[in-house]
Amino acid sequence: MREVSVGPVALDRFAQVLPRERVDHLREVALRTAQALSGHTVWNVSSTERGGGVAEMLQVLVGYGRGAGVDTRWFVIDGDDRFFAVTKRLHNLLHGFPGDRDHLDPADEEHYLEVLARNLDGWQGRVRPGDVVLLHDPQTAGMARALRERGAHVIWRCHIGSDRADACTARGWEFLRPFLEQVNACVFSRKEYAPTWLTAQVVVIAPSLDPFSAKNAPMTPASIRGALDRAGIIARADGDGNLAFVRRDGTAGMVRAHHGLLLDEEGPLPPDADVLLQVSRWDHLKDMAGVLTAVASHLDLFPDDVHLLLVGPDVRGVTDDPEGAQVLEECRQLRPALPSATRARVHLCCLPMDDVDENAHLVNALQRHAGVVAQKSLMEGFGLTVTEPMWKHRPLVASAVGGIVDQIEDGVSGVLLHDPRDLDRFAVLAAELLADPDRRSRMGAAAHERVLHHFLGDRHLMQYGELFTSLVAG
Ligand code: UDP
Repeated sequence: MREVSVGPVALDRFAQVLPRERVDHLREVALRTAQALSGHTVWNVSSTERGGGVAEMLQVLVGYGRGAGVDTRWFVIDGDDRFFAVTKRLHNLLHGFPGDRDHLDPADEEHYLEVLARNLDGWQGRVRPGDVVLLHDPQTAGMARALRERGAHVIWRCHIGSDRADACTARGWEFLRPFLEQVNACVFSRKEYAPTWLTAQVVVIAPSLDPFSAKNAPMTPASIRGALDRAGIIARADGDGNLAFVRRDGTAGMVRAHHGLLLDEEGPLPPDADVLLQVSRWDHLKDMAGVLTAVASHLDLFPDDVHLLLVGPDVRGVTDDPEGAQVLEECRQLRPALPSATRARVHLCCLPMDDVDENAHLVNALQRHAGVVAQKSLMEGFGLTVTEPMWKHRPLVASAVGGIVDQIEDGVSGVLLHDPRDLDRFAVLAAELLADPDRRSRMGAAAHERVLHHFLGDRHLMQYGELFTSLVAG
């Protein structure tokens, strides 16, 4: 178990984007929460500090918690390859996908609990009665009993879920059930994700983004151009380009020169390309391969300047996702069979993960540079990769699955693909949107408003604050 160090961040900065009464309300709830939790710690436990939505949110929410005067800490568990193979299996089952094996056996459970026991050893002694522990996702659920025995209020924060129940999801939940029977409360991103047998209090809290993080902070055209050119992703036609960005600890960063982020020795995209972008982890459920196939086989529908850019993390940097390398390789294998003119317009890109702030800044630049953003997931717990471009006034074409339908109002703040496996329809919807500049800017503006009203961190923090206060008050 290792601690991720996050410095305090003042809530006052929300005043830059929110109306005064919303900031005042946030301050009131923060004050009440800090009083209720005085002398106690809020512990977050997750499986990775980088890559994916959970890490993305903890990096900022922990900072705001500390800024609000609540002793908020974040620990990441250590696991071996076998542990993460088991938890990935569980992740797939909970999404209704059999993955590499459609069940978990007693040896899987034994190993899962053994690894968590090793993580608890030495660490659990720091948790005091009355503290609040947030266990994030299935990887950590098995720690619940030991922490309850220490007298902590244990919350299981589940960031995933499936719209449909089937034999796979049932097997996934069956594995987790004995652990979830130990917790005080379960938090889901959507109410549909909560299994009906839960006895703990169920709370629905949708995820959120932080408008000030390197991932979402405003960028000038010069800094977008500079970052993408320096990273070797999009060639810069003119201008100097600005390489500076602000790290989450407030210090200055500079985009480094990168070579080979675009795979298969491709050169950067032309500066005037109209980019259709999908940013995702390399996970089957994000269906990067489907996007590539759909666009490559219907390139004639798209305006001539459109290029597809599929971007994910360098797979060596995401330790809790053993399938990443395989999914990336599957996408890579699709390119050589394409005609060279098509290949020149569909690109795969891996972003370095050794510097999370630079990674965030590059994602920010890519999302702001994109003409249209895609998120053709087969399943999606929530989908921060939808929220982020919406905040940046980008129009999206995204699957009507999971949390994406809570974010995009079809035809208003984006376009929904009703059958996520329908590649032909996806290509038509994306091509139509790319060809219609007015619709793009109308949808981009509506998308930004939608995030402003529903998916910013103040709402998220207040919901957590209210939950913690009610638990501590008994
Ligand atoms: N992300 C990133 N770099 C990448 C790919 C993804 O920083 O190369 C981030 C992305 O911007 C988003 C998060 O990872 O903040 C993914 O969260 P989401 O909720 O979309 O999906 P998850 O990966 O948690 O299933």
